[in-house]
Amino acid sequence: MYIDGKWIDTDDVYEIRSPATEELVATVAKGRVEHVDSAVAAAKGSFDEGTWRRTPPAERAALINDVALRLAARGEELAALQSQENGATIRITGALHVGLSVGQLQYLAAIAQTYEWETPGPAIEPIAADGIVVRQPIGVVAAIVPWNIPLLTTVWKIGPALVAGNSVVLKPDEHAPLLPLELAREFDAAGLPPGVLNVVTGDGEPVGAHLSGHPDVRKVAFTGSTAVGKSILRQSADSIRRVTLELGGKGANIILDSADIDMAVDGALFACMANNGEACEAGTRLLIPAARRDEIVEKLVARGATLQLGDPLAPTTHIGPIVSATQRDRILDYFRIAADEGATLALGGKAPTGPGFDKGYWIEPTIFVDVSNDMRVAREEVFGPVLVVLTYDTVDEAVAVANDTRYGLSAGVWGDAEEAQQVARRLDAGMVWVNNWHIIHPAYPFGGFKESGLGREGGPGAIDEYVEQKFIAVDRSGGIENKAFALVIDP
Ligand code: NAD
Repeated sequence: MYIDGKWIDTDDVYEIRSPATEELVATVAKGRVEHVDSAVAAAKGSFDEGTWRRTPPAERAALINDVALRLAARGEELAALQSQENGATIRITGALHVGLSVGQLQYLAAIAQTYEWETPGPAIEPIAADGIVVRQPIGVVAAIVPWNIPLLTTVWKIGPALVAGNSVVLKPDEHAPLLPLELAREFDAAGLPPGVLNVVTGDGEPVGAHLSGHPDVRKVAFTGSTAVGKSILRQSADSIRRVTLELGGKGANIILDSADIDMAVDGALFACMANNGEACEAGTRLLIPAARRDEIVEKLVARGATLQLGDPLAPTTHIGPIVSATQRDRILDYFRIAADEGATLALGGKAPTGPGFDKGYWIEPTIFVDVSNDMRVAREEVFGPVLVVLTYDTVDEAVAVANDTRYGLSAGVWGDAEEAQQVARRLDAGMVWVNNWHIIHPAYPFGGFKESGLGREGGPGAIDEYVEQKFIAVDRSGGIENKAFALVIDP
């Protein structure tokens, strides 16, 4: 762990093993609540002492940029480490996990240069007062991140938090702490003052919960399950702690009649199966015109059958292992549930056996058809390479079904670009992609409607989520004549 600028070991450690081979990847310190207390105290101490928050924004931005370059220089190494740790394929860990994180830090460093840290407003009449809005850091920020895309979800939080002058305690997921720890190493090497960034490893309960409920934490930024997000929101009610949440999803992907079907079919597999299907913004519900059901399903199954399951480090692999035995078993449970509810299995539907699959945790790319939107596989997040296919008769029906979910993170539409864009405007989701999926860009916000979250990460508003606005008014009139004292007291 990294607390107050020092690397801390504990006697109590646990092993990270590759989900593909079960071989040892790393041994990690198992943090306890005392470590959370020390890390929060270090963060609060550094914030109160003030070196970092009083560093001019341009210098803070320069340090963030330096860290981006350091990460980029280690890109291949970090991508491989990520694949070994959580099983995401090397095809995606380079571009998405590391590449986008570098881009996000560079974007934050750039917008910090022109960000309105202080905005003078109009003169306040008739008092002759000057007004100014000052945007200042909030204080100690807790960042809690998941195992599926650990580096990007970390950068989305600690990037804007640090550029705004906050101090941070980061709690990575117990399954995937390695890249967040490497990121801390680069901040340390770049000269971030001690205590400004701290990393505590350990379990969600009690370590994560102790951090998110700590009285000295003024903001929690969380990515993970909707259930834990709700518990953090409840925990934050008493102190009106600031909270941003990036939670689950059940993205609807609509293929319109006007779509290029071959492209849409490949796109549907990309939407659902990227990152082994372990992506909150995955397109997991595919909606197709009933009249073209057989043609589309046939193509989908044929293309789905070409997906190579295997070693996440091999460039030929499309889908790697599932992160843990628990997650694999959860997915297998959904296969039973889907069959019981009457869905028809069209592809996959089991854990593969045979050479290459005797160790590790595997799920075949899976497609269910004849699914209706009231089935649990259409309503609940499976978090694996599992696509469910529903049919619709009219576009109005497709829109209604797409929006009939408690989630609202992502959605997509394939078809004539103008028509598809009109449909996109009717969908209740934080990101809607037309004729593509997973378009995540530093300059655009990421986050969800409804139970998919609160607030946005990235985009032009990224820094706003990590500052308090303060209105300062200075009356320069000098006399009592223009003040409103008479509302209360006789002159
Ligand atoms: P999780 O909610 O169990 O864990 C996420 C993080 O929270 C981990 O660091 C964990 O240790 C910590 N945690 C667990 N219990 C906690 C508690 N009571 N208090 C504070 N922290 C606690 O979820 P997961 O299994 O890591 O990830 C899978 C889920 O996360 C999926 O539902 C997925 O959709 C969602 N997710 C969402 C996004 C997004 O950006 N919207 C991104 C990735 C994952």
